Amino acid sequence: MTAKILVSACLLGRPVRYDGAAKPLEHPLLQRWHEEGRLVVICPEIAGGFSVPRPPAEIAAAGSGEDVLSGASRVVDRTGADVTAAFLAGAYAALELAQSEGCRFALLIDGSPSCGSTAIYDGSFDGTKQAGAGVTAALLRTHGVEVYAPAQIARLEARLQQAG
Ligand code: SF4
Repeated sequence: MTAKILVSACLLGRPVRYDGAAKPLEHPLLQRWHEEGRLVVICPEIAGGFSVPRPPAEIAAAGSGEDVLSGASRVVDRTGADVTAAFLAGAYAALELAQSEGCRFALLIDGSPSCGSTAIYDGSFDGTKQAGAGVTAALLRTHGVEVYAPAQIARLEARLQQAG
């Protein structure tokens, strides 16, 4: 069976980021996977109930997506509002979609408090990044989905070659 890949909507050019922008990845592998019918698209934050535009959000106090899932940290937006519940709702919507579509892999935008998989911002809103994953990426990994950042697209291709 052709392995399917859960993909961040903004990575495919959809203008769903907090500032109304997209973050399209122009890459021949992505085009090929699209033509092969492998891509399953979601924006976890839109699925969690956010609209565009929205205030930027970060996981508080240098926490991680895993911390948010365990209740040890929360997600706050730039106005100080606690938006943890919506981030969790979006993460579980992404997991549900991944499971219903049989996605064992995900290619998600890095740096996001939802989709980040190698780096996220540290909660200070001053542009400082730290190693770690966002809430959706962390939840997907907990359930066995392999999550890759755009910079790791070649590694994902290698895994797909193994998986078929
Ligand atoms: Fe893109 Fe993910 Fe942020 Fe949605 S939640 S805008 S898909 S990085």
